[in-house]
Amino acid sequence: MPKITENLIQNYRITDGKRFRLKDIDPGDTGKFKSKDEATGLLDRGVQWLAEEQEKLYASDNWSLLLIFQAMDAAGKDGTIKHVMSGINPQGCQVHSFKAPTSTDLDHDFLWRCAKVMPERGRIGIFNRSYYEETLVVRVHPELLMRQKLPADLIGKKIWEHRFEDIRNFERFHSRQGTVIRKFFLHVSPEEQKRRFLSRLEEKEKNWKFSTSDIAERAHWEKYMEAYEDMIRNTATEYAPWYVVPADNKWFTRVVVAAAIVDAMHGLKLEFPKVDKRKRKELEAIEATLKREK
Ligand code: ATP
Ligand code: MG
Repeated sequence: MPKITENLIQNYRITDGKRFRLKDIDPGDTGKFKSKDEATGLLDRGVQWLAEEQEKLYASDNWSLLLIFQAMDAAGKDGTIKHVMSGINPQGCQVHSFKAPTSTDLDHDFLWRCAKVMPERGRIGIFNRSYYEETLVVRVHPELLMRQKLPADLIGKKIWEHRFEDIRNFERFHSRQGTVIRKFFLHVSPEEQKRRFLSRLEEKEKNWKFSTSDIAERAHWEKYMEAYEDMIRNTATEYAPWYVVPADNKWFTRVVVAAAIVDAMHGLKLEFPKVDKRKRKELEAIEATLKREK
């Protein structure tokens, strides 16, 4: 499994953003696969493998895993999370979706609402959007920054550079505490987004997925892409890499994301905790007593 996964993910993993260019990754790329059918078996195996690894993560209770998903609307965040985590025991997994901040959120620093819900040891935490919105939507819409109640003196030209630095430090701190961080940007093309919006408008059962603000954000496509590129260039690190995942084909997105998570967990060499001799003896005595019971 790990060898196949490495081949699948290496082209999309960014651990040093200095030379990263968004245009180098084609949203329509499907790697070596020619069709969905070729990838299905691998995805099923990946999902199964993940479920097994999660049991060990939970049992050993020291590492935790944080998976961050960022994307333009209709890129497939929700569907990817649903499929890739489908075999996972819900007790060991927490999903948090970050929408526009509340007034309580705005009374605190920009990492606060995410810092509060970092995954506990032994758990997998999933952020559907995250503090990275603070360098995306807030950057594309400067009026949002003005609403953050920051002292005027602290809003300077370097604000984005400073946010990137704070995020890098936050992630380094958590990785040193045992949280393994993997970040996914689902990279969809504007043409594919248009197709998906149209099907949300045309098909009644999908109408609920469409929000009018999605069209407003689409109009800022270029600005968003610049913000995404700058974000990845500044926050891709060895300890918290970004995966820029081609997202025009949902099946391919899912198999790459599953492979990247498998890879991260494999690196931890997880095992079920072993009991020492004394404990083993104790268990054997209890076992014998139980068996003698009438
Ligand atoms: P869906 O797939 O259901 O559309 P979604 O993640 O797009 O899911 P929405 O309720 O449509 O959810 O949108 C959430 C909105 O909240 C997004 O437009 C996002 O940019 C915005 N948002 C998230 N974090 C922040 C933030 N820190 N500041 C301002 N806006 C934010
Ligand atoms: Mg939305």
